[in-house]
Amino acid sequence: MPQTTTDHARRRDTLRAALASHDPALDALLVTNLDNVRYLAGFTGSNGAVLIAADPARDAIATDGRYLTQVAEQSGDLRAVIERDVAKALLAEPGVAGTVGFEATAVSYADHARLAPEAHLVPTTRLVETLREVKDAGEIELLRRACAISDQALAALVDEGAIRPGATETQVARRLENLMYELGAEAVAFETIVAAGANSAIPHHRPTDAVLAAGDFVKIDFGARFGGYHADETRTFVLGEPAAWQREIYDVVRAAQAAGREALVPGRDVREIDGAARAVIEAAGYGEQFLHGLGHGVGVEIHEAPTLGKLGSGTLSDGAVVTVEPGVYLPGRGGVRIEDTLVVHRDGPELLTRTTKDLIAL
Ligand code: ZN
Ligand code: ZN
Repeated sequence: MPQTTTDHARRRDTLRAALASHDPALDALLVTNLDNVRYLAGFTGSNGAVLIAADPARDAIATDGRYLTQVAEQSGDLRAVIERDVAKALLAEPGVAGTVGFEATAVSYADHARLAPEAHLVPTTRLVETLREVKDAGEIELLRRACAISDQALAALVDEGAIRPGATETQVARRLENLMYELGAEAVAFETIVAAGANSAIPHHRPTDAVLAAGDFVKIDFGARFGGYHADETRTFVLGEPAAWQREIYDVVRAAQAAGREALVPGRDVREIDGAARAVIEAAGYGEQFLHGLGHGVGVEIHEAPTLGKLGSGTLSDGAVVTVEPGVYLPGRGGVRIEDTLVVHRDGPELLTRTTKDLIAL
């Protein structure tokens, strides 16, 4: 398996180093965000927390009795505390003192008041999320698999003629999801978007009983989840011979997507990367019709750091996995989005979603 306890231990050590350089310096960090618990300990139960201490001997995981066997299997290298109230139990562990960080976005105001430990609790933001931005080899392998399953499922969907006039958006979406499961997905990464005709102009349309018709754009945004990691891919097809306006916006989006992929250079400002793709769409006169950011990080969560867009900040990291997904949406007529998932490397990005980006007429 690509994920081993060694990977998890290495991540905990990296995080431990970040505790010392945090302002204020932290004696320990209480991790209650379940995605972060999985990332640091491999544990996938629905109730769990991890304590990372300056002294690694004090690291511990807590969960309740339902997960007694599971926590031993998945996180056997960590001391396990079995208590229903996982956060409180970890803070009550002997030796937990001084300044203890908690995840401000994962602990409610009510929980914070209730925890009231001996230690001085201080809010932290994005400590684990920042580490998660750079993927290790095991994570990249899982993302490759998730993306390969997605590509294979889409190819099978096209081959069997499921994207055809007369089918409903929902039917196409369910069939694609079934194919992903048949090909080895453990789950779908998110609810599949199938948007036909005028609906394709709605960036995040949910599938309906709308019937696909000749001349429609059919935009499909989907992905498989494998080993806890998410694929994210969008392709836009056309039913029948494309009209001139359809070719035009497709070509613009395709060129913008290529510019966005080329701009994936480690160290570049994330807003500049968005700008590189956006400039292509603006030059073609469709700037007002590109309504969202260029892309986002993907990994343990379908949307994670970094944000490639005007609302993002910072620079792109070597080893980040991101989407590049420009779109042009003409209300009442139709829209195009093309989205890939890619690994950022110094010697150029690695494309994980490999379905052709040629305009396919079905
Ligand atoms: Zn997507
Ligand atoms: Zn996306």
